Amino acid sequence: MTTHSSGDRPRVLVLGAGYAGLTAALRLAPHARVGLIDPGHRFTERVRLHELAAGVRPDVSHPLSGFLHPEGIEHIAARATAIDPAGRVVATDDGRRLPYDRLVYALGSRTAPAGERAHTAHTAETAADLSKRLQDGPGSVAVVGGGLTGIEFAAELAEARPEWRVSLHSEGGVGSGFSPRARDHVLGVLRARGVRIEEGRRIEDPGSADADEVVWAASMVPNAELAAAAGLPLDSSGRVRVDGTLRSTVYPEVYVAGDAAAASSARAGALRMACATAMPMGSHTAASIISELRGRGPRTFDYGYLIQCVSLGRRDGLVQFVRPDDSPRDRFLTGRLAARVKEQVVRSTVGVLRTAARRPWAVPLVPGMS
Ligand SMILES: Cc1cc2nc3c(=O)[nH]c(=O)nc-3n(C[C@H](O)[C@H](O)[C@H](O)COP(=O)(O)OP(=O)(O)OC[C@H]3O[C@@H](n4cnc5c(N)ncnc54)[C@H](O)[C@@H]3O)c2cc1C
Repeated sequence: MTTHSSGDRPRVLVLGAGYAGLTAALRLAPHARVGLIDPGHRFTERVRLHELAAGVRPDVSHPLSGFLHPEGIEHIAARATAIDPAGRVVATDDGRRLPYDRLVYALGSRTAPAGERAHTAHTAETAADLSKRLQDGPGSVAVVGGGLTGIEFAAELAEARPEWRVSLHSEGGVGSGFSPRARDHVLGVLRARGVRIEEGRRIEDPGSADADEVVWAASMVPNAELAAAAGLPLDSSGRVRVDGTLRSTVYPEVYVAGDAAAASSARAGALRMACATAMPMGSHTAASIISELRGRGPRTFDYGYLIQCVSLGRRDGLVQFVRPDDSPRDRFLTGRLAARVKEQVVRSTVGVLRTAARRPWAVPLVPGMS
């Protein structure tokens, strides 16, 4: 790797301090001068935002400084506003222009409610406001989206806020990716918590959900605008096109990880947006850059799914065993055992990041990390 700057170690900029970006930055820290660009000073456990919304936890974030190696990583507390891939420079909203030898693009995704009244919907990103609003109950709340996030929201709200009438709306079947018996369990728990389930109708606009409050848990949109403006091609889902090593298909100095990447692997096929895929991708981009530093080429990304974990409130859950391509096996766990497994999985994400801050070499030892 020829370096852009005169220092002895190459300069790697990581955009976004979420699961993917933080994993990449920590693994790279002993090998490169890492600039981690994110306006926030806290790491948000996005996978717990439904718990924040329901009032189960008052806070789901941690000081970013607690994860960063004291010397290895410079946190640049700013928003990236533009990328010049030809000049290898990132511009930030505080007026800086930061050069890089390698870039890791890990800006994640956001929920984008649809329709004219989109602005009236709550989302995971506004979980703290939703939590305050729910203290003013009783009333009715409609959760739109029958995927994993919608299921977790509906179950958590129904359990923690029994004074609210909760409904769950899905264009297709709720939890359609589970095995039939596992899906029956999920529907049974939701109904036992009083959740009204409506399948087969597409909600076009929060205004048509017929509830006092609407939580939009469908239509995740990748934060790929900066990449598109820089000329990086996107796929039909709006994510950044990458090759098998997670590099942009047109700018090999730019790696992409997490929800913003249109990544796939031989075993899994096209990857879905998930913390479970974001951290391995972040780890992999770091491994490939380190491999490049050693004069070898970037490495092919290898990933296969093991389980899907869903919390159904604090006392129940579902652990669905899946094939490497994410299709469901017959085996699954339910009840308190599943709830405990899910909690351990969520805790382990922060645990891995804390461990990586002290021992970056340990990251590839974590199951699923390459
Ligand atoms: C309620 C909920 C529950 C979930 N549960 C699960 C689960 O159980 N299992 C699972 O696998 N996944 C789950 N997910 C999905 C998971 O949270 C995401 O897939 C994961 O957060 C993606 O990680 P990421 O690093 O790509 O992006 P993010 O975690 O979104 O991080 C992106 C980072 O980029 C920063 N950023 C954005 N724009 C800029 C900019 N211009 N400049 C600088 N920084 C910027 C943001 O501040 C953020 O820190 C859940 C999601 C939600 C909402």
